[in-house]
Amino acid sequence: MAHIVILGAGTGGMPAAYELREKLSRDHRVTVVNAVDYFQFVPSNPWLAVGWREREAITFPIRAPLEKRGIAFVAQRVTRIDAPGNVVELQDGSSIAYDYLVITTGPKLSFDEVPGAGPEGHTQSICVVDHAEKAYAQYEHFLQDPGPAVIGAMPGASCFGPAYEFAFIFNTDLKRRKLRKKVPITYVTSEPYIGHLGLGGVGDSKTMLETEFRNNDIKWITNAKVTRVESDKMFVTELDDQGAVKKEHELPFKFSMMLPAFKGVDAVAAVEGLCNPRGFVLIDEHQRSKKYRNIFAAGVCVAIPPVEVTPVPTGAPKTGYMIETMVTAIVSNIVAELAGKPAEAKGTWNAICLADMGDTGAAFVALPQIPPRNVNWFKKGRWVHYAKVAFEKYFIYKMKTGSSEPAYEKHMLKLLGVERLERPSPEEV
Ligand SMILES: Cc1cc2nc3c(=O)[nH]c(=O)nc-3n(C[C@H](O)[C@H](O)[C@H](O)COP(=O)(O)OP(=O)(O)OC[C@H]3O[C@@H](n4cnc5c(N)ncnc54)[C@H](O)[C@@H]3O)c2cc1C
Repeated sequence: MAHIVILGAGTGGMPAAYELREKLSRDHRVTVVNAVDYFQFVPSNPWLAVGWREREAITFPIRAPLEKRGIAFVAQRVTRIDAPGNVVELQDGSSIAYDYLVITTGPKLSFDEVPGAGPEGHTQSICVVDHAEKAYAQYEHFLQDPGPAVIGAMPGASCFGPAYEFAFIFNTDLKRRKLRKKVPITYVTSEPYIGHLGLGGVGDSKTMLETEFRNNDIKWITNAKVTRVESDKMFVTELDDQGAVKKEHELPFKFSMMLPAFKGVDAVAAVEGLCNPRGFVLIDEHQRSKKYRNIFAAGVCVAIPPVEVTPVPTGAPKTGYMIETMVTAIVSNIVAELAGKPAEAKGTWNAICLADMGDTGAAFVALPQIPPRNVNWFKKGRWVHYAKVAFEKYFIYKMKTGSSEPAYEKHMLKLLGVERLERPSPEEV
């Protein structure tokens, strides 16, 4: 009998728990440990920050749905992982022993890399539901006395989609309130060009997003290194393609939302030999730690090299469906190993993303997410906005009812050529 402990109950951890429980016999135990007792649907946070959603609509308590499926749940922050001893230590001083550990702890939000940044400083965040609520409170205040806004992503950021989404949602909301004319918006990003997305672009993302920015009077600064933020001003060094200083900017603002750089969370980053210098878990192609063979990792917490060197550092994003493919590979590998078979599954890391733009949206399919790709597709249309709303409801429903990939979803995606696990190449068969 094995005990599998999953750290983190987010986009990666919840499906991992359900999928493991479904695939393993009841002789094996599955336990989820999460810092808070609720699930939050992170992609809806940009809506929360302008008041289009309330917290209750995108969060729900997870104990009951997990326990109903026979999964134990512990609502505690993990403070230390004793990897050689196969034990995790919790905030209340207790500990849990494991045979396999699945790490899905997401990001540590590294606001401290830019003085004055973050919700404790002068820029808002939409990375977690608490921050999005705080951003909305600040936004309501801003609506009383509107002025310039700066939205974007800090040096070293890897998650750019939500920054674009928020810029367009903010723009749409202000238009609806007839206040847009009072709010000059500047999109400030470490990306080398608009639409890079940390991915070297996807299809024609550059042209399409630039066009949307122009059509909506959103100015932009790329290769932007934000160096510090004061209560009403952002200091930005713009670099050229060679990395030399092109221009220094002082941008006044009354509202700012900037995605920070990510790191690995402290308890994970501190494990000797587990992570790279930024605290992301070093894994092999089977999602397995290179040093500790009974530790697997999926989601934002894994180390992925940037797709290319950029004048201001950028990272590669880890998107939702890509994370689910990592999870499916981990589940296959643990199940195989417990059955005495080799753990050979590899996630496809395929990406399908829906980005809301307020009243329209942009979708991309990147198979796989990291270039070069077999499929590279980026389209804009009002249907994406509705598809994103539908997806929100669908994903939350799946997480409440405990199914990770229902048969119809699997079938539909297979028809589109989107699969979670890599098929063996002809030489391997
Ligand atoms: C605002 C935003 C919007 C996004 N929108 C999209 C989108 O539309 N489409 C898309 O494909 N991708 C999107 N992403 C990217 C990605 O899908 C999400 O970041 C996703 O939530 C990452 O999943 P995860 O499981 O790695 O981490 P998370 O979902 O962040 O989950 C991590 C969990 O670990 C827990 N945890 C952390 N530390 C500890 C600890 N020490 N002990 C116990 N528990 C701990 C946290 O409480 C949390 O529950 C978005 C990202 C952001 C930030």
